[in-house]
Amino acid sequence: MVAGEPFVARIPQKLYDEMAAHIIAGYPNEACGALGCKDGQVVKHYPTANAAGQPDDFSIIAPNDLLDIFDDIEEYNGEMIYYHSHPVSEAYPSRRDKNYAKLSKIQYIIFSHRFYPEPPYARVFLVHDDDTVTEGKIEVV
Ligand SMILES: [Zn+2]
Repeated sequence: MVAGEPFVARIPQKLYDEMAAHIIAGYPNEACGALGCKDGQVVKHYPTANAAGQPDDFSIIAPNDLLDIFDDIEEYNGEMIYYHSHPVSEAYPSRRDKNYAKLSKIQYIIFSHRFYPEPPYARVFLVHDDDTVTEGKIEVV
């Protein structure tokens, strides 16, 4: 179910291209990373390794990497967006994604390679406490 207020993730073309390249490099595994946001605009890209035990099935940023990213984002008083890819399935939060997203309360950008070898496409979501999902809009600027 998709409900709630719409929101926008504004991403400079250069950072979007870097993020997409990181996602493509990870294929056929899931790839992940984070973005730093300031005043509604993405200002920094943090590509990370996928620390999940089964990287073809899930993705997670290692706690140490996550702490470094949090520290850096805090320096410019920004907000974090988490992003990862789905090698096969739709760009929509899985059961496990929802559980993590609910706890973190941050925007989730999900890429899908569903139409591989075509380039992956991305969607952005917020997951709420009651498991409902709000889809936002990605604006590449
Ligand atoms: Zn996922």
